[in-house]
Amino acid sequence: MNALGVYIHVPFCKSKCAYCDFYSLAHRDPAGYADALIRQIKSKRSAFHGKFVDSIFIGGGTPSLLPPEDIADVIDALRSYADVTKNAEITIEANPGTLDSARLSAYRTAGVNRLSIGLQSADDEELFMLSRIHTKKEFEQSFMLARVEGFDNINVDIMYALPFQTLEKITRTLEFVADISPEHVSFYGLKIEENTPFGRHPNIDHTLPDEDTQVKMYINSCKFFEALGLKQYEISNFARSGRECRHNLKYWQNLDFIGFGPGAHSMVDMRMYSYKRDLSLFMADPTNEAALLDDDYEMSVRAAAVQYVMLAMRTTRGVNKSEYFSRFGVDFEKKYGAAIAPYVEKKLMATDGESYHLTRRGMLVSNMILSDLLDFEEK
Ligand code: SF4
Repeated sequence: MNALGVYIHVPFCKSKCAYCDFYSLAHRDPAGYADALIRQIKSKRSAFHGKFVDSIFIGGGTPSLLPPEDIADVIDALRSYADVTKNAEITIEANPGTLDSARLSAYRTAGVNRLSIGLQSADDEELFMLSRIHTKKEFEQSFMLARVEGFDNINVDIMYALPFQTLEKITRTLEFVADISPEHVSFYGLKIEENTPFGRHPNIDHTLPDEDTQVKMYINSCKFFEALGLKQYEISNFARSGRECRHNLKYWQNLDFIGFGPGAHSMVDMRMYSYKRDLSLFMADPTNEAALLDDDYEMSVRAAAVQYVMLAMRTTRGVNKSEYFSRFGVDFEKKYGAAIAPYVEKKLMATDGESYHLTRRGMLVSNMILSDLLDFEEK
């Protein structure tokens, strides 16, 4: 029996944030969506054979816009078609302004034991600029309500490198995080994506902090989180001991996960596939796999080995030589030695003899290093 993570995509938001290119739609009625998900889960039940589900991640979008009974029905459906372990990590993403006591209590009853709340910034002006639907105060109220309802495993999403952001401003957001004391923080630099209001803004680049400031923001924040007891375990993720996100670790460890809903991706038994980002198509017939499929291919062992390196290098554990050998039958040092030696010398990568990982400075240029390793692999 192998572990399998389940991802449920809920593509609804109250309104679109200025930077967002996730597949989510504003001002749509989610009625009937949970039923469609359940039909899809049922039609795919054979994918659960021989596996146990130890993580469920309900993401989006804003899943907390669905009625809590819908969330409970989806979790119940998974329990009836899959072997969901007793201590499975069950996460729901939520936005402040969509949470109240009754909803939070219903999530707990349904088995949700981890909450991921989008803060992004503790500065109301920044929140307004990002078109977030909440203020700092509203976030704080939602967070405290979640604590009262018994959530003891909460992630907070934060962004840095925002337009007009200064080191002082990001420090105030960090201090707010220290005050509320979450178990987990996801900390991402803003990326300007095409086809978003930010991406269409002609002068957006001139408003962003310069590169040196962005480096300081990242390094200072990593140190700040670690001083709070939130240990870094991935480029953008920090957690108290034992509170690392089991579900997201599956992505970085190249383990199987299955996704449901439009836009969801899956990797099951070396097969990679994704569904079209098309809610209407999904609602028309969520069981019509052929119509819903976008990408769909079998991954070769070589491609899996490359992907393993690309993803494992994002984690502080890095690439473990023995694990790499036992999964792919290849000596990591023999294969990549020439490519990684210059990075070790420049202290962008380090090794403890068993694993190779990026240093914090290396994480700042991870894209460059990983694309270099990819080029090396393809030669
Ligand atoms: S709440 Fe999240 S998914 Fe929705 S628009 Fe904002 S960033 Fe995108």
